[in-house]
Amino acid sequence: MKTSKIAIIGGGISGLVIAEQLRAKGYQEITLYEKHHTLGGKIHSIQYAGKSYELGTIFGLPSQERLKALMKRLGIKGDGPKLSRVNYSANGEKTIQLPKSLLSDFRVEMERLPEVLAEYTALNAPRIQYVEPPLMLPFSQWCDYHEFSVLKKVIIHYYTIFGLGELSLIPALFVLRVLNYDNLMTFMEMPDFVTWKSGAITLVQKLGQSVKDVRLGQAVTDLKQLENQQWQLTTAYESALYDQVIIAAPLDEVSHFACFDSALSKMLNQIKVESFNVYAICAENIPSGVGCLLDNLKPERRGHITLFDTRWEVTSKEALVIAYAYDAPDGNPQTTTRLVMEDLVALGVSSPRIYQMKRWRHSPHVDSDQLQNGFFQRIEALQGKNGLFLAGECLSALSLENCIRFSESLVSDFF
Ligand SMILES: Cc1cc2nc3c(=O)[nH]c(=O)nc-3n(C[C@H](O)[C@H](O)[C@H](O)COP(=O)(O)OP(=O)(O)OC[C@H]3O[C@@H](n4cnc5c(N)ncnc54)[C@H](O)[C@@H]3O)c2cc1C
Repeated sequence: MKTSKIAIIGGGISGLVIAEQLRAKGYQEITLYEKHHTLGGKIHSIQYAGKSYELGTIFGLPSQERLKALMKRLGIKGDGPKLSRVNYSANGEKTIQLPKSLLSDFRVEMERLPEVLAEYTALNAPRIQYVEPPLMLPFSQWCDYHEFSVLKKVIIHYYTIFGLGELSLIPALFVLRVLNYDNLMTFMEMPDFVTWKSGAITLVQKLGQSVKDVRLGQAVTDLKQLENQQWQLTTAYESALYDQVIIAAPLDEVSHFACFDSALSKMLNQIKVESFNVYAICAENIPSGVGCLLDNLKPERRGHITLFDTRWEVTSKEALVIAYAYDAPDGNPQTTTRLVMEDLVALGVSSPRIYQMKRWRHSPHVDSDQLQNGFFQRIEALQGKNGLFLAGECLSALSLENCIRFSESLVSDFF
């Protein structure tokens, strides 16, 4: 039994796994603060006509060992629908991902890839510390550096399509931590995605049960250390003292906390995100499956659908389709909605109307300059200092797998 009073800020997968791991180590006094009235963060399943749909996290991959181990601990099965992918051009015609003429070059590049990736320790570390300089380059430049001309064209179909950003801007570190060799191979073969019948929220519900003191609808507004070394945590409704605090909320959103000096606060403010919209749309004549609109991955096509997903076999006249789109270039949500609706109609869908939607601050990352300025070394130097810890998807570099791995490693190294 360990009596240290610990607060966790943020009830997404990162904060919840930290709570689970601390409890497993015997810590009893854990309080979890969540801004919204439900746990989950970017895990956000909804129900429609008795079936689950995902507005946030969609799937895991069979290559993701930490996710599989967590599901085993929680007694959760990957019992959801099978997802199958169809590629479309912008005018709604079926298309192929890669011209046949590039296939043999691609095979050669994929054979060379594992050896190249093995040079980079930052790709496999549970928590990023030292980043090898080439990984600081935007991914497209990293491909040029290693002469991966086809990989550069192909990876956009597994990265940009999910709202993670443009490969000419996002450092290779972030791209390759999400799409490591195993994940990329799983995607390219006929992938057996891990999905959940009642939605990814099943993970959250099970994890949430292990935390006794959950405070929902309680955005933490400030955090500071007192002279007696205790941490004073403030919400709009209460103020409480803790021995240790773990921040698992988006770090750019808490950069104003008094516990951060101005240099650190400025550094956290440099975290960039993608505005990515997920529309749940009721409509008729929806094509089944997961549709990838490859022409819409170009920057000038922002606002158009990158991906749509019916998730379940369409059996009724009207059904739900989930459509994904970056913000339109004018930043006006109504423009994005108009483009999304027009794209659906071009695909043969009729009578579309919005049922629900979410606009995410997706894919948090820092740019090449921030990596060169030692972003991750500075974060690591802070971990545990006076009982404060930082976690979450920006530090783990996104995905359920990476968040789980980061949270487990934080608890195992410091508690
Ligand atoms: C549309 C979409 C699809 C995705 N699909 C996949 C997928 O298929 N597979 C996959 O592996 N990953 C996917 N991801 C990524 C994955 O969902 C995230 O990387 C992961 O869920 C992030 O977890 P987190 O706990 O670090 O952050 P979050 O989920 O963002 O949780 C942070 C929590 O902190 C709370 N919070 C914020 N500020 C405060 C405050 N001041 N006080 C208290 N609480 C606060 C927030 O409300 C939130 O609940 C997807 C993400 C999105 C957006």
